[in-house]
Amino acid sequence: MRMIERLRLASVWSRSIRVRLTLWYLVIVLLVLSLFAALVYVGLSRSLRAEIDHALGLAAQRSLAFSASGQPQLLPRALPADYIIGLYALDGSVLDAGRQREWLPLAPRAIDAALQGRPVLLTLEHVGETWRVLAQPVAVGGRAIAILQVARSEESMEEALEQLSELLLVLVPTTLLLAGAGGLFLAKRALDPIDRITRTAAGIGAGDLSQRLPEGATASPDEVGRLAATFNGMLHRLESAFLRQRQFTADASHELRTPVTLMLSQLDVVLERARSPEEYERALRSLRDDTWRLRRLLEDLLTLARADAQQDVLQRERLDLGELAEQVVESMQPLATERNVRLTVRAERDICVFADQARLMQLVLNLVENGVRHTLGGGLVAVSVERTPKSLAALTVRDTGIGIPPEHLPHVFERFYRVDPARSSGGTGLGLAISRQIAEAHSGAIEVQSEVGEGTTFCVLLPLAMEEAP
Ligand code: ADP
Repeated sequence: MRMIERLRLASVWSRSIRVRLTLWYLVIVLLVLSLFAALVYVGLSRSLRAEIDHALGLAAQRSLAFSASGQPQLLPRALPADYIIGLYALDGSVLDAGRQREWLPLAPRAIDAALQGRPVLLTLEHVGETWRVLAQPVAVGGRAIAILQVARSEESMEEALEQLSELLLVLVPTTLLLAGAGGLFLAKRALDPIDRITRTAAGIGAGDLSQRLPEGATASPDEVGRLAATFNGMLHRLESAFLRQRQFTADASHELRTPVTLMLSQLDVVLERARSPEEYERALRSLRDDTWRLRRLLEDLLTLARADAQQDVLQRERLDLGELAEQVVESMQPLATERNVRLTVRAERDICVFADQARLMQLVLNLVENGVRHTLGGGLVAVSVERTPKSLAALTVRDTGIGIPPEHLPHVFERFYRVDPARSSGGTGLGLAISRQIAEAHSGAIEVQSEVGEGTTFCVLLPLAMEEAP
């Protein structure tokens, strides 16, 4: 049973910041209050004792007189009831006790002190009471002849201190109780918004990322408001990633189904009846072209899927970007010639980047091929490599082609986006998406500018490689 209780306490302790905060707060308040109570108690007892000592001195002054014969005697002036006064001979015997009913024996160290001419102040017990005692020598002609002892009961002081302790014993727990309730209230007020965030977060199902924390939660500029805003921002990013992924999967299935359906119907038509060898060959060639396109689409999809899964490990090395551009242009010359497009390259020397050669080549190839395919016969595609004023490597592919209408420009890097699917060059619509992914994987960027009927310019910006490759 005790074990269960202990476990329950531990779980409340670990699960609730509110409880922990309040308990820590109570510990601090308890320490402060105890210190305060101790200081008040000690301060009061010291000042009360100092007052008694002072009163004893005054009483001693007022209570002594000398007879005509020069003998010391007590003045018959009445002292308050809590005083006992006595005049003693140096051997401790009582000389004069006034009209009092009782007297205190002479304090133990009083005689020695009197012989040295010193007064003595001490506290002693007498019939169950505590007394503060002042014993001072009575001197005639510089020689002590008697001792005057004044004592005052400490009962009233003890009573005052007792009352104070009783008061503190009530006040400290009451204050602690109030502080605990206040602490719990404050902690609850401060943490309630976090509880609300937690409840909302728990209510957001995996399939429904469109929910957000209410405006009110994110409005305040404090810690909780910032937490809520961060949470909403994260939900927004998750939702858009989720939607993009869903769209991608839907697009990919669609893109794969269309060519496969076409190929199947093509096969059905051919197999309907016996054909001549030439017809079979034509059909097979057409099927081969379709299969090639399908393979390219699958490769593109794989490239993007790898990149999304961050499995795309770059084999980086120090590369001369100009040389790479020249190689690409050379490999694209046949296509350019076929389409009657002039393809040129102008590259500054020694512009080196730290990059994966195959991937970078794929990027430049995509851009140059797009340029050649979207430029009419007699047009020009110019590739250039230079260093920007901001010390970046810039590879530009400029064509005098058909251009991209401004409303399509912001979308050309999206997956499967084609400006005019009807006039599509047969591409997969993934080329520019892959190009941007490659540029970004190399800490670079890709930009596009276009004017319909004038031409299009793609510019890839990459960080320059250090003198020594890292
Ligand atoms: P695709 O494989 O269809 O070429 P891309 O992602 O490479 O796909 O390009 C997306 C779309 O951007 C293309 O369908 C085309 O309409 C347009 N585009 C790309 N490059 C050019 C260019 N140099 N000139 C005009 N339009 C272009």
